[in-house]
Amino acid sequence: MEKTLEGRGALITGSTSGIGLGIAKALARAGAKVMLNGFGSPEQIAEARREVAKAGNSAEPAHSAADLSKAGEIRALCQEAEAVLGQVDILVNNAGIQFTSPVEDFPDEKWDAILALNLSSNFHAIKALLSGMKARGWGRIVNVASIHGLVASPEKVAYVAAKHGVVGLTRTVALEIAESGVTCNAVCPGFVRTPLAEKQVTALAEKHGITPEAALKDFLLVKQPSKRWVEVEEVARMALFLCGPESSSINGAALSIDGGWSAA
Ligand code: NAD
Repeated sequence: MEKTLEGRGALITGSTSGIGLGIAKALARAGAKVMLNGFGSPEQIAEARREVAKAGNSAEPAHSAADLSKAGEIRALCQEAEAVLGQVDILVNNAGIQFTSPVEDFPDEKWDAILALNLSSNFHAIKALLSGMKARGWGRIVNVASIHGLVASPEKVAYVAAKHGVVGLTRTVALEIAESGVTCNAVCPGFVRTPLAEKQVTALAEKHGITPEAALKDFLLVKQPSKRWVEVEEVARMALFLCGPESSSINGAALSIDGGWSAA
């Protein structure tokens, strides 16, 4: 693979699992020096570091377990990333959680937690790292939003509000940096085969007293016209493209990768 990101430093939040780990591997494969963030058992984190090192044919990346629902920890993570990587040229805001409930039963603390992690963390990380990117005249910010940044689904009030917020944040930042050599875009995946999505399938199966296979079929086939999961590697390739040299005119976009969901 062409090393289009050689010499670039990349911080990927929520990269111990799922989409974030897939993006970290793709960026490492393209030559970026990456820093990981996210929770997990020591074994899970060690495995993530090994996978990224293997993808990049490089040393194991640094990892921070900073809790990105807390502004102070985000600022500290960004400082640590600048120290570890030398400079942060690429920021991928990916960490996110989900919770489903009708709005009138939606717990206040779940609303606060989802807004803090899925939306505010993007703001705090961009605020901390943008001035360095602008000063160097090059940078890439990729916010992992969701199809739920473009359309709604019932029982996901906090997630949908946060992801619509991410799209608005992306567009505003993009306008502010349009002449700087830095770009800011959002990717909007449909259902991607990850632990987060698989948990939703399990929850639906329990709720409706059906098998996970049946829940997957009903859940996915109804929403996603392609009738199949989006794969992590597909989202990772889109993020990689947005981080590369050929995407310098793509700014403020909310790019769907959803098997046709947003076309309906
Ligand atoms: P995942 O659960 O596999 O990974 C989430 C990552 O975030 C993990 O590394 C986890 O440790 C980390 N994380 C969780 N809470 C954190 C916190 N407080 N501070 C720091 N890190 C934290 O989930 P995923 O499916 O890979 O989702 C990644 C992103 O993609 C999320 O923003 C999600 O909303 C978005 N997304 C997922 C899907 C899907 O179908 N899986 C679809 C659209 C968008």
